[in-house]
Amino acid sequence: MIIDYQSAALIIVDVQNDFCPAYTSGGKSRPTGSLAVAGGGDVCVPLNAVAEQFVERNGKVIATQDWHPKRHASFASVHPGKKVGDFVELDAVQSQILWPDHCIQGSEGARFHDDLNIDLANLIIRKGSNPLLDSYSAFFENDRQTTTGLDGYLKAFSISTVFLGGLATDYCVFYTAMDALRLRYTTYVFTDAVRGVDYPKGSVEQVLSAMEVTGAGMITTSDILQN
Ligand SMILES: [Zn+2]
Repeated sequence: MIIDYQSAALIIVDVQNDFCPAYTSGGKSRPTGSLAVAGGGDVCVPLNAVAEQFVERNGKVIATQDWHPKRHASFASVHPGKKVGDFVELDAVQSQILWPDHCIQGSEGARFHDDLNIDLANLIIRKGSNPLLDSYSAFFENDRQTTTGLDGYLKAFSISTVFLGGLATDYCVFYTAMDALRLRYTTYVFTDAVRGVDYPKGSVEQVLSAMEVTGAGMITTSDILQN
């Protein structure tokens, strides 16, 4: 496929230790993340390759980072009597699913996976910092109104096409893709460079088809690396 890199951005969603199984890199061992997604670290190699190509051809590379304060409202631990996977009603959001504590600001778990070449990123967007509000999408927090600033950044560079990869397929990647489409970006998802939670069961399959039906192009990283 032909890409006008000047008007394109790669968005690498939440490739952080807490979303990845245990791994060793550069002699350092990282334990399994608190919200590890099967094969999470596997997205690093293909995303690095795409990011290198974007940098070489003057496209933008953006990485997002889930970045929660301690006692964030999305953590089951802050809701007495609730457990991971339960739902609660938060003021701004209906049906917030509850997660284990994860991606706490400044923690090892919040760091990018060591194998992700974050030096290639032009911009890092941190999201989920409001203690009372979760943020799946790279564009808007879960009230669907509070912007992360990403749309303004992309528009400032006249970027009209976005390519998405990262974690997790059925949450942050999915919500980012749906917002990108709503904001009228031409949107592609790298199916080989995403991994999902698949909770509730079947949600990965469901979101892959929802993204495609809504207009996202489903491609693999090799579709653009061959060009
Ligand atoms: Zn989170």
